[in-house]
Amino acid sequence: MIRIHDTLSGTKTAIPDVPKLRLFVCGPTVYDRPHIGNARTFVAFDLFVRWLRSRRMNVFYLQNITDIDDKIIDRAKEEGIAWNTLARRYENIFLENMNQLGVISVDRYARAADFIPEIVAQVKTLIEKGHAYRIEGDGWYFDITTFPEYGKLARRTAAQAEDATSRIDASDRKRNRGDFALWKFPDPARPDEPRWPSDDLGAGRPGWHIEDTAITGHFFGPQYEVHGGAMDLKFPHHEAEIAQQESASGLSPFVAIWMHSGFLTVDGAKMSKSLKNFVTIDDLLARHSASAFRMMVFMHHYRSPLDYTETLALNAEKNLETLAVFAAKLGMAAGAAAPRRAFGEFEKTFHAALEDDFNTPAALAATFDYVAALQDGLFELDPREAAAAAKGLTDLFATFGIDLTPPKIPEKAREIAARREESRGSKQFKQSDALRNELNALGYDIEDTPKGPFLWPRKNHS
Ligand SMILES: [Zn+2]
Repeated sequence: MIRIHDTLSGTKTAIPDVPKLRLFVCGPTVYDRPHIGNARTFVAFDLFVRWLRSRRMNVFYLQNITDIDDKIIDRAKEEGIAWNTLARRYENIFLENMNQLGVISVDRYARAADFIPEIVAQVKTLIEKGHAYRIEGDGWYFDITTFPEYGKLARRTAAQAEDATSRIDASDRKRNRGDFALWKFPDPARPDEPRWPSDDLGAGRPGWHIEDTAITGHFFGPQYEVHGGAMDLKFPHHEAEIAQQESASGLSPFVAIWMHSGFLTVDGAKMSKSLKNFVTIDDLLARHSASAFRMMVFMHHYRSPLDYTETLALNAEKNLETLAVFAAKLGMAAGAAAPRRAFGEFEKTFHAALEDDFNTPAALAATFDYVAALQDGLFELDPREAAAAAKGLTDLFATFGIDLTPPKIPEKAREIAARREESRGSKQFKQSDALRNELNALGYDIEDTPKGPFLWPRKNHS
């Protein structure tokens, strides 16, 4: 049984046993290059979905793309281009970055602009049921006093809601300060704004929160299993989603589990362009591999904060290398493959950690316990056990997009190593030392094992 911490109830909740698990995660607002905070969120959910699927769970993973937003409109105006030209540009960069990071588990990306009829229909329902009101020359707003449970996710009262208004929700004619925009009429001062005609609502564009519930309503209906997203979206965004969908459908709960991922900081500080600690995904990938970043995310519980530092990146690289070297040596010690009990036992512990609120650090600790237990007697292992462990470990981490495949050792290096073996055999130690130096100069370390020389690329060699 897989249990996940549900933010709404505050308890670990069993993932519903359904033929198809429906998961929605809040996607990006496409107005700029995505940063590593975005990467942390989407890699964390990608690890989770890949793992669920490896446990033979059928998952439909849906993510929205917010392509209608004040930030997009402002940025497009600055550049003198159309809002949708700018949105498509950054959507393409986002998708390319996700691909580079190995985020491959999303089944469907849905753009807000492609779901305007669904959005209009949901606003209409809210109007008909008395949850929305019109402000002339401004838009349609959700009245939070018509949903007494407003605040239940973030544990805030309606009166505390007022600090969370973004520009689109700002109006001094609202009934309550926490009311939020469902549909915004065109602002005569901003002729570049996108707008869609609607006989029922009047021409306008959607608010932010309504995009998601209209999209999930279309794909999943009014209720589904898991809603994920970054922690900072809890309020007001997810709170507003609950209010909209439960008011529109009359059904509760909107979702069975609310799953929130933790913040990312850089060198102990919140990322910001003014602090010059803003790291884009492109910056990250110029310095570290996708596997190394995925390892960094894996090293942290998804709900814990992740402080990105160069030390952390080096630790992740080191973890990757330790596991890859271990798997490669097991490969040397391996004989004919046969599934063996020892790896199965470790695997059980590994998955048990993940079944308990997807505890990746505990699963990684179990991995290093397993490595430590086998490390010393590695070459005395039953060759079949070594083969099973080498393949098992490599396959297990490949599930998470973490690559432990040993690097290809070029023919030239292998040939030098073979000559060194010969000179060692005939006790020509001077020559054997010279050959070792030659290998080092070529960028390889050599270690003598009971199964022959083990070659591995040297650190900091290019
Ligand atoms: Zn969202």
